[in-house]
Amino acid sequence: MKDSYNRKFYVGDVNHNRLCYRPTWIEVDLNAIRHNFLQIRKLIGKGTSILVPVKANAYGHGILEICDTLVRSGVDYLGVGTVDEAIFLRSNGFVKIPILMLGSVLTSVVEPIVENNITQTVGDMRLACAVDRCAGRKGKKARIHIKIDTGMGRIGVWHEDAMKLISKINLLGNVKIEGIFSHFPSADEDKPLTHRQIKDFLSLLQDVKKAGINIIYRHMANSMAVVDYKASHMNLIRPGLMIYGLSPRPGAFKGKISLKPALSLKSKIVFIKNVPPGRRVSYRGTHITTCHTRVATIPIGYGDGINRRLSNKGRVLVNGKEAPIIGMVCMDQVMIDINHIDHAKIGDEVVIIGSQDNLRISAEEIGQLCDTIPYEVVCWLDKRITRKYVLLKK
Ligand SMILES: *Cc1c(COP(=O)(O)O)cnc(C)c1O
Repeated sequence: MKDSYNRKFYVGDVNHNRLCYRPTWIEVDLNAIRHNFLQIRKLIGKGTSILVPVKANAYGHGILEICDTLVRSGVDYLGVGTVDEAIFLRSNGFVKIPILMLGSVLTSVVEPIVENNITQTVGDMRLACAVDRCAGRKGKKARIHIKIDTGMGRIGVWHEDAMKLISKINLLGNVKIEGIFSHFPSADEDKPLTHRQIKDFLSLLQDVKKAGINIIYRHMANSMAVVDYKASHMNLIRPGLMIYGLSPRPGAFKGKISLKPALSLKSKIVFIKNVPPGRRVSYRGTHITTCHTRVATIPIGYGDGINRRLSNKGRVLVNGKEAPIIGMVCMDQVMIDINHIDHAKIGDEVVIIGSQDNLRISAEEIGQLCDTIPYEVVCWLDKRITRKYVLLKK
């Protein structure tokens, strides 16, 4: 068995997966994913491994193709947000690569976790015992990572109480504490808190060592900490967003690492009409033309993850020029003003995220327009949109 995936999608092909006649698609350049992974490798020390979170369909990029690219690039560990995502990977050829389930679970699902060799995050005795019992029944040793809360306020044991829990779990016969980790809530904006978290976590690691407990993987760093907090790297890092070539806000990685955004979102003009002055465009008439306007319709909408907050605010690229979104974004359609784009015609390509000539619209920019983070922008992108892949060059 090999950890790879060989469904082939080429840019320009129709969707091989299912019927797709609509000219709206996502392009993911797998070379950019590999480039970003290798840039991160270059930045970190030799003794540090890389776990890439591929939760939520690999941040909307397509979990199987992204994992295939990462495995080929030499990733050490994958991270998922649900047990189902882990099992999906296991049943699609990713049988050897270690997978860490980053969240907590009900004890009723430890069976599939242990059966599929998924490393489970554990923050209390309840789950540790359930995993131990299940592994015992199967004659297995189950791998777990212990989650330490140093300030995230989510899952995990408070760092002050951690030593007691770790000592108890260490006595269980059928689990192996393979990892210990913590998470930053504000690595991009709160230096004192982040430094304090690193200090508390390192001090706990000292205590663990003193107690004679040897834990292979010690990890804290998300993307922002990978570039800004070297002390948090330890021997495993967890870069998510930066693998996809995105940054928490525009320019956050500028001058620190050179990343390439992997995802573009494109469509084509399917209708054009001349609208005289004084006409309403789209639901609720929030845009009323003030002059003769050429209005184009593109077949994409909030049903695909184009946030309605982009109504009368967002922009797209057509023929190397900017065209503003006018009126409300509909479920399946968006109207744009192409008055100033002389030769625009039906069938012309429209870029919603990505580059055209010298212009670029980033997920970061859309996030700001919608009052949210780029993470959410790419997670919005619905399964309804075909994903096409630029395959790895040799
Ligand atoms: C998603 C996730 C990450 C990745 O964070 P980025 O900001 O995308 O780099 C790291 N650690 C945990 C626990 C996560 O859930």
